[in-house]
Amino acid sequence: MSYELNEKVKDLVPYAVDQKRGAIYMNANESFLPVHPSIKKEIISLTRKVSFNRYPDTLALKCCQAFAAFYGIDPALVTAGAGSDELISILLGCFFSKGEKLLVTEPDFSMYAFYADMAELEKVCYQKTEDYRIEPEVLVELARKEGCRGLIFSNPCNPTSRGLRKGQIRMLLKALPDMLVILDEAYMDFWNQSLLGEIGEYDNLIILRTASKAMGGAGIRLGFAVGQQKLTKALQAAKSPYNVSSITQAAGTAIFKHPDILKDATMEILAGRGFLTGALTRMEAEWKDSPYAFHMIPEPKTNFVIIRFLAQKKNAQVYGYLKKKKILVRLFPDFLRVTVGSAEENQRFLSVLAALQEGADAK
Ligand SMILES: *Cc1c(COP(=O)(O)O)cnc(C)c1O
Repeated sequence: MSYELNEKVKDLVPYAVDQKRGAIYMNANESFLPVHPSIKKEIISLTRKVSFNRYPDTLALKCCQAFAAFYGIDPALVTAGAGSDELISILLGCFFSKGEKLLVTEPDFSMYAFYADMAELEKVCYQKTEDYRIEPEVLVELARKEGCRGLIFSNPCNPTSRGLRKGQIRMLLKALPDMLVILDEAYMDFWNQSLLGEIGEYDNLIILRTASKAMGGAGIRLGFAVGQQKLTKALQAAKSPYNVSSITQAAGTAIFKHPDILKDATMEILAGRGFLTGALTRMEAEWKDSPYAFHMIPEPKTNFVIIRFLAQKKNAQVYGYLKKKKILVRLFPDFLRVTVGSAEENQRFLSVLAALQEGADAK
């Protein structure tokens, strides 16, 4: 006899992401902006004061306070995690019991299904419409019919960049009072439909936020869950005690203390998105009868755009060509997801795409 891996892990492979030295990264929805020098200086100064021989603050208090002050919410309702990814894992692993039904939407962030499987939950899948919209009434009906215990989704959505407006989310929360709704607002700094300010009104709501996207802190691994006292207490009790390192806490505290810098950075990313969508809209019209005809999902709500080549195999071909030219984008079965880059990076992406369509080989 020898040790056998269980069913859950025996066929797993590590998360794969393209990382290539010297490449242009438009594949992971990070901020293209390096951390601002004044923030960096403060991170270094706070890190100097860290007692490295001691465990970190279990509740990451200073960091949660800076986060709460930035968004104007009560710090007592905030829990920090090693990325919101960790918080998703804890929530799905601890707030539900094996076999309970979790409602997920498709397409959506792939980690929800992954952690639901790890927690041995039964996934009930709501298929979005052809153009990737959620119809809230249909979602509610499905949740009731199936007797779901929870719902998790990203708003605005990764990977579709579409979103539900506040009114629609309120409707969902009121229609499903006995279900836990985990609302992942990882990209809400790029849109204005956050429910953070209304957390006091819903005892079945947990909102997730992250330092990884608009805040430009993907490398420090810091995320937050916001919910009413009962939920927050349970989450703080369920998490591992020292989940956020002292260095991350110091960095997070420094980052959220600079609202003006963060808002400017967000505006700069949005300006880049405007440039990219403007150019892609023109290309979409010009190429509509070519083998490279594509559709861009209009009015993106995030720091990335979705383009879908109409000839299905073209998605993979374009992805491969861009990669050869050291431009990394994310390939999905039906489309490409392109993260907004710097002005030069966006321009380079567009030129390489144009060269491919013209049958020329970009330099
Ligand atoms: C990027 C992303 C996150 C953030 O993950 P972190 O672990 O905080 O880096 C969470 N949810 C969605 C939908 C994302 O796209």
